[in-house]
Parts: sequence; structure tokens; C-alpha cells
Amino acid sequence: MSSVLTQTEFNQQLLNFIQSSPTPFHATHSIATRLSLAGFIELDEGAAWSLQSGKRYFIKRNDSSIIAFVYGKKSLLETGIRMLGAHTDSPCLKVKPQPELNRKGYLQLGVEVYGGALLAPWFDRDLSLAGRVTYKTAENTVASALIDFKQAIATIPSLAIHLDREANNSRSINPQRDIVPVLLQFAQEQSLTPNFKSILLAQLKKDCPHITATQILDFEVSLYDTQEPVLIGLQQDFIASARLDNLLSCLVGLEAILQANDEVSSLLICTDHEEVGSTSCCGAKGPMLQQFLERLIPDTETRIRVIENSLMISADNAHGVHPNFIDRHDENHGPLLNRGPVVKINANQRYATTSETSGFFHLLCEQHQVPVQVFVARTDMGCGSTIGPIVASEVGVKTIDVGVPTFAMHSIRELAGVADAHYLYQIATAFYQYPSAIRFI
Ligand SMILES: [Zn+2]
Repeated sequence: MSSVLTQTEFNQQLLNFIQSSPTPFHATHSIATRLSLAGFIELDEGAAWSLQSGKRYFIKRNDSSIIAFVYGKKSLLETGIRMLGAHTDSPCLKVKPQPELNRKGYLQLGVEVYGGALLAPWFDRDLSLAGRVTYKTAENTVASALIDFKQAIATIPSLAIHLDREANNSRSINPQRDIVPVLLQFAQEQSLTPNFKSILLAQLKKDCPHITATQILDFEVSLYDTQEPVLIGLQQDFIASARLDNLLSCLVGLEAILQANDEVSSLLICTDHEEVGSTSCCGAKGPMLQQFLERLIPDTETRIRVIENSLMISADNAHGVHPNFIDRHDENHGPLLNRGPVVKINANQRYATTSETSGFFHLLCEQHQVPVQVFVARTDMGCGSTIGPIVASEVGVKTIDVGVPTFAMHSIRELAGVADAHYLYQIATAFYQYPSAIRFI
């Protein structure tokens, strides 16, 4: 087992993880690779299992969601399961099925907006493409692989202010018309438009030369910013990066479960499709976690008793109070960057936190000298949600919603504090080592 990471080491891992994870498929692959290296055994959901305590396992679903499980030597009934959940997806622009456009001799790709993306920051960025392609093999079977163009191959140019004098006052963004990226200029305006699938096939052969693909059958690829994640600020107080929501929490959970001991049982679940409601075969609203628990503990009564002794930390970023927009937060509940993880509370159950789960988390923070903050939305404003209430209602496990405070959530470049992810990692590590059942008297 590796030793606990320092803040500098953790943040370096975070920057590397985000850079190598431009899509949920890549994030899941990155997590699975780390788990395999640490001795976790991959299970096939389509095969029979015989799980043994003292061993470590993981499963993937749709290549974009993953559960890691440390099967502790102590009885599940005695200790319950320490669970931590996060999501692998982030808002982005996804390429449409028949995307090719040739306008004025420029090759463009039609895109859909995935999730609640903040669109303005997508203009004038150096964009690349990555995702999963499904192809026909030489043996006429269907297979999938991940591709990543890595280089800047596309951009969405802004309209010049001279052509829209009201741009700074009232420019709105029409997603069908305004965010279509430009990929190349043809030698002649009337050139034949290349087929996007043939571009993907060439990239697949480049990325995976051992594969014998004869045809791309379909694809799920999206645009991403090639600008690398960095520490930023005069004193390097911040992390600037794409997809901090919620790859940051995925890495917190991963690094923490890699430190888990063999005595008690620990579980990490990172699911896709949170940004679009989590309803899918591999989303938090789907049966993935429930089915895993059913196979781990087939007897219903025993399973319910184990769940009663368990707790889920749902980790997803929170909104730090923005110094330019202080009035967007309740005056007593404006979390600051670098002042610790945030417990998220909502009277209408948009967050699953209860006074008991919150109390447990506060005590854990106190015992490990980690500062903690509280967020509740302004009473006259709506509030986001996350996987916490979904998992709590699907599985019946008591849950707490927490996350690190950030600015610019759902922008193509978000901002977090340099200390907070490491704080949350310390607490997640302590949580995974919590020695007994998690019950409140
Ligand atoms: Zn999120």
C-alpha cells in the first residue's frame, strides 16, 4: 500500500488524471488502470462471481462508470460498507451522428450540448476531440475502443465585435447556429466533404495500431479544451482546469480507496450521465450499485442490515462565493476557496445530507484537523443537485453531500483552491479506514 499523498503530490496526480481523461470513457479507463496496478481484480458482470473477503475488485459498465470494492476481512454485518460516489461526466459539446458541414469551403461539425454547459467560454479555444468509437472487426464482430486526437484540431471563432456592436451588452448564444466548430479549409470551396467516420477510422488506426477495424459503425466523441490544467495565481493558490466537476472528486475517491486497509469494506462508485439526470444503465439512477450489492450479499435481509450499517459520501463540487457576485450566496453560507470541503444542505432534499450524516462528517474533519464549511442556497434561488439524493433513494443508504468549493462551475475552465481537494482526500482516506459500523444512536 502506498503512503498518504502530500498536497503537492495529490495535486500533481489530479492534473495528470484530468489531462489523461478528456471524456468519461477515458476517466473510467484511467481509474481502472490505477486499480489494476494496485491489485484490484476486474470482474465481468456477465460472468459468475465468487467474491472472497480480503480481496479487491472492480467492475466497469458502458466503459464510462466504475465501481471499486475492497472486500474487508471483517464481517460486512459487523462493519457495513464505506461508500463514496462521484461522477465521471462533465458538460461538453458532443459531435452529432451525421455532423459534416461544408460552408464556404470550411469543414465544420454539428454538435449537441451535453448537460448544462456554460457556452460562452467555448469560443476561441484550441479544441480537440476524444471519445469512444464502435467499429466492425475483420471477423465481422462489433468492438469499441477509445480515441483521442490530443492536438488542437478545431475552434469556435467568436463573431467580431464590429459585426455585432451589442455583443458586450446583449449577445446570447444559439446552440444550433453559433457553436459549430471549424476543422479545416478545403483547397476549393466545392471540394468533396470528407466523411467524419473515415476521419475517426484513421485516428483509431493511429491510436490503436494493433486493431483490425474495417469500418466505424458509430461513435460518441466530444470536444475538449487542449489547454493543460495548471496551478494558477501569484501564490499558486488555485487550480485552473476543465472538468474539475467532477473528476476532482473521482480522483479524491480513487486515491483514498487505494489507501484502504483490508479489514473493513470500502466502495467507490463513479458514474456517468450525472449532468443529464443519471437515468441510464450505468448512471446513478440505474441499477448498477444495487445489482452489485445484490451479488455481493444475495440474502435480502442481510443486505438491508449491511446497508443500515453503511454510509455514502456523495462528492461533487460546490459553489464558492465569487468576489464579484457576493449577493448570489446566502450571507451566512458562502464557502471560500481553500477553506475546506463543503457540506451541502437543502431542505427540499436536493442534497441528501441529514443532521446525522453531517454531524458524522464534521466530527471526522475535526478529528483530522480539516476545516469544513456549509452551503445552503439563497432561499429565493434554486439549487443544483447531484447523485447523493439519487443513490440514497435507490439504495436506501444514509448519505451526505459534500464537495470542494469552486468558481465557474460548468465552464470549459473551472477554478478550485489548491488546498481543498487534498483536504477532502484526507477525510475520504480516514472514512475508508473507519473501523466499525456507521450507526448513530
Ligand atoms: Zn457535478
